[in-house]
Amino acid sequence: MVEQIIKNNNLPLYKIDQFNKAFYGDLVVSFDDITTWSKKERQLLNEIKFISLDVQTQQISKKQDTIKVLFKRKLDGKLIETVLMRFEDGRNTVCVSCMVGCPVNCTFCATGKLGFKGNLTATEIVDQVLYFARILKKEKAKITNVVYMGMGEPMLNLENVQQSIDILTDSNKFGLGARRITVSTSGYVAQFNKLVVDGFRGRVAISLHAPNQVLREKLMPVAKAYSLDQIMQALDNYVALTNKRVSYEYVLINKVNDMQENAQELSELLTGRLAHVNLIPYNSIKGVEYERSTPERIKIFCEVLKSNNINYSLRVTMGDDISAACGQLAGETVERS
Ligand code: SF4
Repeated sequence: MVEQIIKNNNLPLYKIDQFNKAFYGDLVVSFDDITTWSKKERQLLNEIKFISLDVQTQQISKKQDTIKVLFKRKLDGKLIETVLMRFEDGRNTVCVSCMVGCPVNCTFCATGKLGFKGNLTATEIVDQVLYFARILKKEKAKITNVVYMGMGEPMLNLENVQQSIDILTDSNKFGLGARRITVSTSGYVAQFNKLVVDGFRGRVAISLHAPNQVLREKLMPVAKAYSLDQIMQALDNYVALTNKRVSYEYVLINKVNDMQENAQELSELLTGRLAHVNLIPYNSIKGVEYERSTPERIKIFCEVLKSNNINYSLRVTMGDDISAACGQLAGETVERS
């Protein structure tokens, strides 16, 4: 869009670099702050919006380590949520949404209960990151990681997701290293293969949540479209190409997928693979009867993985007091829009 403005007005091409440096690098808070452009040149930017999203609400967790923002799209007023997580080791990770709602309807996920209400554009995805980058800049901190794990299934909005990754990793724009981007999928194999063939070299997280096809089909409707075998084949190809470890996300739901035999089956599935299991104690959502696994059951599950030499971590729940934890993003007022 900026490129178009420059072209239409016969401005020199170096104006693009000046814009990118100010907008993505210096994180200006308005077009007026792009001082490398004259006032007259800046006025040309009035035909585009500085940011595509308005802040509806912003919540900070009691521990101050998580900020959740409910954004309202300027385009149609629909609401999405984005979360910044600040880790003790210095990582500042933004969890971005790529859709309003989600069509996949995983049984344990609040976003899935909303249904699908629209794809976000690449600009809207990038603007979520820039919003938090501007906040962090005030305290001389930076975004270190971006994870596509908010509202929506990235593989079903692939073109916009790819464009947003291009902007975030472009060294002349936001300049984040590719390995600092993590894209998640619930298992859309065809689109995932395209992402990899197109050159994606970031990290991958697969929402697994069950170690076998039968249980997976009960928890996630997508499992009927793409089998576990197909998913594992696609991930093996990705690992062969990139030598990068895959994260296997596994929500622990009491007496649903947290049995000792589930842990054993998961171990057998992942033995010999470059894998890390992210165990996520289930976060309760309205209208769903699942419960979080008890500490005893979680302990036994972990012990089985450990005894089988499977890399795993038990995710420390962040932001559950502001409904910002995994699976809880629902854009509280979306239902009314
Ligand atoms: S877990 Fe992800 S893919 Fe499944 S419904 Fe929720 S947002 Fe969609």
